[in-house]
Order: sequence, then structure tokens, then C-alpha cells
Amino acid sequence: MKAKSLKKDKVNIITLGCSKNLVDSEVLSGQLKANEIDVVHENTKLDHNIVVVNTCGFIDKAKEESVQTILDQLELKKKGKLDKVYVTGCLSERYKGDLAAEIPEVDAWFGTMELPLILKQFEADYKAELLGERFLSTPQHYAYMKISEGCNRTCSFCAIPLMRGKHVSRPIEQLVDEAKRLVAQGVQEIMLIAQELTYYGLDIYKKRSLPELLHALADIPGLQWIRLHYAYPSKFPLEILDVIRERDNICKYLDMPLQHASDRMLKAMKRQITRAEMDELIHTIRERVPGICLRTTLIAGFPGETEEDVESLKQFLQEHRFDRVGIFTYSHEENTSAYDLVDDVPAEVKQQRAQEIMEVQQEISYEKNQEKVGKTFKVLVDKKEAGRYLGRTEFDSVEVDNEVVIHSDKKLPIGSFVNVKITKAYDYDLEGEVVK
Ligand code: SF4
Repeated sequence: MKAKSLKKDKVNIITLGCSKNLVDSEVLSGQLKANEIDVVHENTKLDHNIVVVNTCGFIDKAKEESVQTILDQLELKKKGKLDKVYVTGCLSERYKGDLAAEIPEVDAWFGTMELPLILKQFEADYKAELLGERFLSTPQHYAYMKISEGCNRTCSFCAIPLMRGKHVSRPIEQLVDEAKRLVAQGVQEIMLIAQELTYYGLDIYKKRSLPELLHALADIPGLQWIRLHYAYPSKFPLEILDVIRERDNICKYLDMPLQHASDRMLKAMKRQITRAEMDELIHTIRERVPGICLRTTLIAGFPGETEEDVESLKQFLQEHRFDRVGIFTYSHEENTSAYDLVDDVPAEVKQQRAQEIMEVQQEISYEKNQEKVGKTFKVLVDKKEAGRYLGRTEFDSVEVDNEVVIHSDKKLPIGSFVNVKITKAYDYDLEGEVVK
């Protein structure tokens, strides 16, 4: 008997973790919709009777959040507010056996590559013809596009290859087709994502093919912004820099996680690159694409990390003055090669180091933002919050980077581009007014 007097099932998909997981949820909901099953993302109205929790299993904090979300949904089920709770995603892929034993109330557990099995629960068929079609969970004017799955790298701290498998690129034609469908439904900005973006094509085309893909996507009329996330520094295909420089609708933006800057740590992390090689790469990137915005991600507290290592990382940030920096504290993940090392940096020291590193970056970000005062930028209007319009320049990606507070006495359509003259700048965000 149904928990609610629903004539037919209504499914709520809850997505945790990264944008790649979000795309998987969008693909699942696209398939459910095509099978005439009512589906929503992150539904707060609780007018649904089935939940699919798409989990993250990357690091401790993410795993805790995933387990807590599952338990919260099971609480609703116990109260008769839900009929079914299904779990998929990376945590389920990684720990399915243990979790099924520990939390038997979950109706079924699925791995990261078991979409047809999930659909079976709804007596729904997997529709291959829908490849590249999905039900977006993002605002209609931007979308993520996953260009490959899995990763062939062996970074010692990383559990992702355990959950996502080996690198598999999607063919250029398929991606161009998907991008065209997205643009046809109003998307103007596409964020290209993968576990390792720069490896694209090495498997199916036997050569690095990101430049070809970028040109093919940049040729799509109406696609205003193409943004690159998750580039890998080692054997970085420099040709993509020329494409970024030459094509107007490819954002002068590059997200390239570097994780650390001390050679001792880079070696222990198996990052296949040295400090000197990273220095040279960053110089080359800035030479080839003047004004490019560089985002990176770092890890604090890796086993064996000394104060000296942290100082060299701070010095690295001061030398290269990245535009955007994100930081994680090291998480000791079983079945990764770093798990054999002693996790000797205490949690509070990890936290302290992460904070110190971000304080260095905060100053750099403030100074760089001051240089933008008085200048005018093309801004994509993302939303209206508390009576204020918020948007982003081409130098800011969704959710992880800075925002522009836009002052306008006129109504601004969400998803429209406006020119904004910057009047104020803060540590991270900017403020400005619309100009012609
Ligand atoms: S590149 Fe390294 S950190 Fe990134 S997903 Fe692959 S193994 Fe993990």
C-alpha cells in the first residue's frame, strides 16, 4: 500500500558529492521521465513516495554526509512518509556489501554503473536512444557535461578509480550532439567535467583529443561559454591553450588541481610531476593565454607533511598568485596506496594548515579583486536573492568561485548576459552596476 494517496509513484533524487554525480542523477531522471515516471531533484515539498540517494564516497566528510542522508530518509520511511529508499553512487559502489548488512532497511543498493538495474525497480526500460539526454537539475542557462568516466591515474590518496573504474572517453559526436540538445533547451554555458579532463581521447582515439573536442563544441551556435574543469598537470596537452586563446566562447579559465607543491609530497602523492615542472607549466599557460583565470585545489595534512612542506606550499601560492583555490584536508582512504602510510598529521593540525594556506590565498584574492574595480565585465545573471541579482564573470565557475552582486534598477532576466562595471571588491566577491 502506498505511503501517500499518490495515484502514481513520484521519485525524488537526492544528489551528494561532485558535479559528475549530478550528471548521473540527471541521466537517471531523464530515463525515468521517458518512462513516464514522475521525478524531481532535491524535492523539499515531500510530495514524493520514493527516494534515490546518489551518494559520494570520496573522503570521510562526504561519506559521513552520505550515510546521514540515507538514515534521514529511512527515518521518513519509518514514519510512513516514504515507500522506498534506494541508494546509488560512489559510497554504494565502494561499500555495498558492508552497508547492506549494516543498514538493511534500504530497499536496494546500486553501484555507479548500474542505471539499467535501478530502472528495473520501476519496471522501466533503459532507453539507449536517450543517450546524451537528461533532465537538468541546474538552472536552465548552464549545465555540466561529463566527457569521460573513470581515471587511469594512480594518485596515492585517491579512491575515485576504485569507485569509477578506468578512464572511458565519450565520442566527440555524442558530446557535440548532447551539447546541441542542451543549447536547444536554453543552456548558454557548459562546464566540461571528468575525473581527468586532459586524458580525453587517449583511449578511443589513441591521442589526446581535447583540442578537437573544444573546437567542435565552440562551433555550436548559441553556446556562449565553455568552461574546463579537472585538468591534470602532468603531460598537460599545451595545444588546448591555443584553442582557449583563439575561441571567444571558451572561457579564459582553467581548473587544474595540483594538490601540493613540495616535491616530497608530490612524490608521495604519486602526482607524476615535480615543483619545477609545475612552475614551468603555469608560466607557459599564462604566456599562451594572457589574462587566464587559474583555479587549483590542494590537500593539507598528507602523511609525513612537515611545516617546511607547508611553507613551500604557501610560497608557491605567493609566487603564482592563483585566482581561485580550494583546499581539502587529507582523508586516510582504505585501498588507496597512501593507506599504507601512517596518517601522522593530527586532524586539528590538518585543519590549522588548511586555514593558514587559505589565509595566504584570501589576501591574494583580495588584491586581485581590487584590480577589477572600475573595469567592466560580461556577467551571466544566475539568480535573484534577497532582492539582489547575482551573477558570474567568465572567470568564475558555478558554486566554487566568486560572484558578482549586480545593481540594476531594471529587471534582469535570469540567464541573460549584462555588462557590469565593478564598483566594489571584497576578498572573494565583486559588486557593480549594469552599464551599456
Ligand atoms: S587524477 Fe588523481 S585525484 Fe583525480 S580522479 Fe584520478 S586518481 Fe583521483
